[in-house]
Amino acid sequence: MTNFQHKLLEWYQVYKRQLPWRETSDPYRVWLSEVILQQTRVNQGLTYYQNFIDKWPDITSLAKAQEDEVMKMWQGLGYYSRARNLLKASREIVNDFGGRFPQSVEQLKKISGIGDYTAAAIASIAFQVPVPVIDGNVYRVLSRIYGINQSIASRQGKMLFREIATELVPSIDAGNYNQALMEFGALHCTPRNPDCISCPFNSQCYALSNNQVSQFPVKDKKKAVIERFFNYLIILNRQDDDTYVYVRKRRQNDIWKSLYEFVNFETETSTDFDSLTQLDLWQKLFTGNPCTLVNESHVYKHLLTHQRIFAKFYVVKPAKKIESPHNFDLSLISQKKLDTLAFPRLIDRYLEDNNGVPV
Ligand code: SF4
Repeated sequence: MTNFQHKLLEWYQVYKRQLPWRETSDPYRVWLSEVILQQTRVNQGLTYYQNFIDKWPDITSLAKAQEDEVMKMWQGLGYYSRARNLLKASREIVNDFGGRFPQSVEQLKKISGIGDYTAAAIASIAFQVPVPVIDGNVYRVLSRIYGINQSIASRQGKMLFREIATELVPSIDAGNYNQALMEFGALHCTPRNPDCISCPFNSQCYALSNNQVSQFPVKDKKKAVIERFFNYLIILNRQDDDTYVYVRKRRQNDIWKSLYEFVNFETETSTDFDSLTQLDLWQKLFTGNPCTLVNESHVYKHLLTHQRIFAKFYVVKPAKKIESPHNFDLSLISQKKLDTLAFPRLIDRYLEDNNGVPV
């Protein structure tokens, strides 16, 4: 083992966080934790991980789950394609691989939602295959220690990092080594204020000795953030003693696919209720069916990585039922049962603020 590997593993033994997925080499649990932890903080991910394991303790039980159940369980975590792929992948593993995870990176990458990162994590942590796992923490640590000044966003830069990372992985204990490197970046060599004074690598760190710690890793300019304007119509339908509302499942290839929402009139700019009533979709939905505006919300702002969403909610009561709701992919649900559906966090915030739909 090299000096670098040795020091890193020593640091890991002392400082690593005790996490349930570190107590196991079960590929199902390793995979689940890696998928949950992409774009998610460990504390938040822990609860979701535990809930998944409690409900679906192995790949076979997850493969039998309904999509709506999985989406509901995932609600609030964001990046919902991860949840859809989790279910799809579990079925592929059961049907195509007899319920056993393949061990090689190449085979793992044939499974839905498993890319370079997750395949390497499963192969090394569950099966000790000596391949590097490269996440944002690894880019930062390696770029600083070795002074790698190529952009981590460029193809060339990524190839160079992969070459160096591959050389550094030990042939034994690759799983622990990979976890140690990521943990070291997450806890010690952090983006801001890394603890260089007590760092085991401070005598060999390029960035520290050149006083350039804040300049690594090198990144390209950030992708622009786009603004979107959502106008949700909550269409009421009273039946007997209950109030029903129309909902639809998002099916297009866009954010929040497979989650539920109300009728959404997306506009190019911020707009008001009167302008909405002039839109084509409004005319198609409500021709000969006058609507009363029951309630109008303030603007809800919701931030995603590359999108800034401004949303307003309008509760409306049409004089009669919508004709042919299936043409608009709409179905009716009792407002008392709205909490059984998986909504994006934005809609949940509105429902929480109003204790449901303000009818
Ligand atoms: S010396 Fe500082 S910058 Fe270099 S690896 Fe250690 S913590 Fe990171």
